[in-house]
Amino acid sequence: MTRGGVRAVVRRLRGRGGIELKSPGEIEAMRAAGAVVARTLRLLKEHARVGVSTGELDELAEQSIRDAGAVPSFKGYHGFPASICSSVNEQVVHGIPSREQVLAEGDLLSLDCGAILEGWHGDAAVTVPIGAVAEADNRLSAACRAALEAGIDAVRPGGRLTDISHAVESAALAAAAEHGTSYGIVADYGGHGIGTAMHMDPFLPNVGRPGRGPRLVPGMALAVEPMLTAGSEKTEELDDGWTVVTVDRSRAAHWEHSVAVTEDGPLVLTLE
Ligand code: MG
Ligand code: MG
Repeated sequence: MTRGGVRAVVRRLRGRGGIELKSPGEIEAMRAAGAVVARTLRLLKEHARVGVSTGELDELAEQSIRDAGAVPSFKGYHGFPASICSSVNEQVVHGIPSREQVLAEGDLLSLDCGAILEGWHGDAAVTVPIGAVAEADNRLSAACRAALEAGIDAVRPGGRLTDISHAVESAALAAAAEHGTSYGIVADYGGHGIGTAMHMDPFLPNVGRPGRGPRLVPGMALAVEPMLTAGSEKTEELDDGWTVVTVDRSRAAHWEHSVAVTEDGPLVLTLE
């Protein structure tokens, strides 16, 4: 979701407007959709290597999703032309797969995938090293993944939305400190509610003070998706109208899971 949508969402947060609540049966249906996404991402990870194009990965993804009886949610979304977003190196999110974009040794590839199964959406992303990547890139990806895990841990009934934001930010800062570096935490984009649509209320920032926003209650589902960069947190969109890159062209990582709030705590929906 873009910053453009944030203001509208903030207005609705103030009004405590409707966040879709799912029944336990509907959460199970979302797990089935999430499993299609997880399986597809695993397949893509297995195939993502030097000499393979992101266009080929996109074709594999669409086949995998359709073979499962699901529909790729990205394809045609506001005109997006593919079933996955493939974002290489300084590309943060929303990269367009292409037969011309051939993966090379040392690339850092983020793959984002969404599927609809029986009306329910799953959305997840991983960052994959291509061949031997720089140690700094591995650390960046690991930090982003740790931030995701911390965010997931905060998806708890009784908590507040920005508890998740704060957990993500804190984990990213901690990882950077541990590595004696600093990471940009992208704030132009963030997580979102998910269910009968891919992008629903509420917008979920990846930075912020805890204890704000809607109270988390069982039946909510959220896509948690930190994006970290090795430099500036500032991004810009390329002329293709989609690809988001870091302004300083530093490398970026992106990890995402769709997660439900349950009585027992967080339930990750995008697992096999
Ligand atoms: Mg996604
Ligand atoms: Mg998402």
